[in-house]
Amino acid sequence: MKLLYKGKAKSVYERDEDTYLIEFRDDLTAGDGAKKDTKAGKGALNAEISAKFFEILKEKGIDTHFIEFQPPNKHLVKKVRIIPLEVICRNIATGSLIRRYPFKEGQELSPPIVEFGYKDDKYHDPMVNDEIAIALGAVEKKEELDKMREITLKVNDILTEFLKDKGIILVDFKLEFGKDKEGNLLLADEISPDTCRFWDATTKEILDKDRFRKDLGNVLEFYREVRERILA
Ligand code: 5GP
Repeated sequence: MKLLYKGKAKSVYERDEDTYLIEFRDDLTAGDGAKKDTKAGKGALNAEISAKFFEILKEKGIDTHFIEFQPPNKHLVKKVRIIPLEVICRNIATGSLIRRYPFKEGQELSPPIVEFGYKDDKYHDPMVNDEIAIALGAVEKKEELDKMREITLKVNDILTEFLKDKGIILVDFKLEFGKDKEGNLLLADEISPDTCRFWDATTKEILDKDRFRKDLGNVLEFYREVRERILA
């Protein structure tokens, strides 16, 4: 199979005319690639966790690129052209939000905040408004951004509810969207502890990639904990 693209944590292979195979690798990066490590088994955990979330979202009527999980660490997906925007949704203030604005760490955000970032490590994925996203050619029309906001808030409702039952708070997360050859907007990429913040509902312990970003240790143990809780 032809390797089409190698990102920081995933590789994309062309499988046939209509599908890609995404390989979740064991690489971990933070700070736009400045900090790197490899943890054996991380790729498989993220592939399984992400598959479970995509299955839940599909059941609830969200259109996604996801077709099937191919254990241990691959997703078969519909071919899409990725829109170069990160759609970030926040329920609790932390991370870059409190570095940029006078929110307090742990402050509840109700209604949730949705923001767009332009995917470009050189510029540190800067937040963009609708006009900048359109002027950069990320999308053609404001309506596409509105649709992405609407789907993101729906994903937030579905996953917040699902995770609450598992004793996990969905603090924030990042989504990516793509367009298939018919022009349909599909949720793409991954939804995993690499792309979400998860806190234990009782202890507020960090269960996600912030363990790596902040050198808290036991990264894989906590990814495993997320896997066990969501598959239970
Ligand atoms: P923040 O802007 O606070 O750093 O991140 C907000 C949320 O989006 C976090 O859940 C974080 O994991 C996710 N996120 C933001 N940018 C990226 C990125 O470039 N890569 C990954 N994997 N996740 C991101």
